[in-house]
Amino acid sequence: MKAVAVANQKGGVGKTTCCVNLAAELGRKGKKVLVIDMDPQGNSTSGLGIDAKAVKKNVYHLVLDKAKPKDVIIPTEWEGVWALPATLDLAAAEVELAGVISRETRLARHRGAFKDFDLVFMDCPPSLGLLTVNALVAADTLLVPLQCEYYALEGLSQLMRTVNLVRRYLNEELELGGLVLTMFDARTNLAREVAEEVKRRFNDILFETIIPRNIRLSEAPSHGKPIGYYDPSCSGAKAYSSLAEEVIGRWLEKRS
Ligand code: ADP
Ligand code: MG
Repeated sequence: MKAVAVANQKGGVGKTTCCVNLAAELGRKGKKVLVIDMDPQGNSTSGLGIDAKAVKKNVYHLVLDKAKPKDVIIPTEWEGVWALPATLDLAAAEVELAGVISRETRLARHRGAFKDFDLVFMDCPPSLGLLTVNALVAADTLLVPLQCEYYALEGLSQLMRTVNLVRRYLNEELELGGLVLTMFDARTNLAREVAEEVKRRFNDILFETIIPRNIRLSEAPSHGKPIGYYDPSCSGAKAYSSLAEEVIGRWLEKRS
């Protein structure tokens, strides 16, 4: 099992889109995948076609010890994909966790329950609060989506400070395992320049696959479908399939 925190405290960079579509593509390639929705917005929950109203217990109940993993992990319609959903309840967890003992390790203590999955993706909220910290503590590796725009790298140093603190005090194994460029528009010079700069600085961890800006990717969530089921022939679907191949090569086959 490889647990991947998908984090970037900027909103709208493609965290949720990565979690949903990577999970679905990996599932179709025969892997068993869990998506843990750590964002009270519940976008990966709804993006996977799960009706929040039908979800009784979720991440909130798990991290506050009101439910066990087997009560909150549910199958989805998509081959190989399970979900640990979130609903707006989870917003209260950020506040309630602040007052409990071992507040940063509330998710990590359940890692044993995730061991039958090949990959676990934790979709983080756009902040560096306790929910993101819980994901970083439970993770083996961190995947950071970067939007191809001028401020793409802004905020990365703040994220790295949090990662370093987590490493020092809570999870020394956490690695910065991947950067992925999202919403790339080859027609703009700026997007190409940003991609070049990220490549220069982070060549060793940058995934080769670049996710293009693709309207179908923005439509799929309102249908509750991953892109590979919504429109398998679009450029977004092909990109996520190729990213999934890279993920397998980097995190599942080269495991030491
Ligand atoms: P985050 O989880 O980081 O806030 P999302 O994955 O929700 O970001 O993406 C933000 C918005 O952009 C969503 O409406 C999503 O559907 C859309 N989007 C994400 N990736 C792409 C893409 N490659 N092309 C076009 N739209 C995208
Ligand atoms: Mg999101």
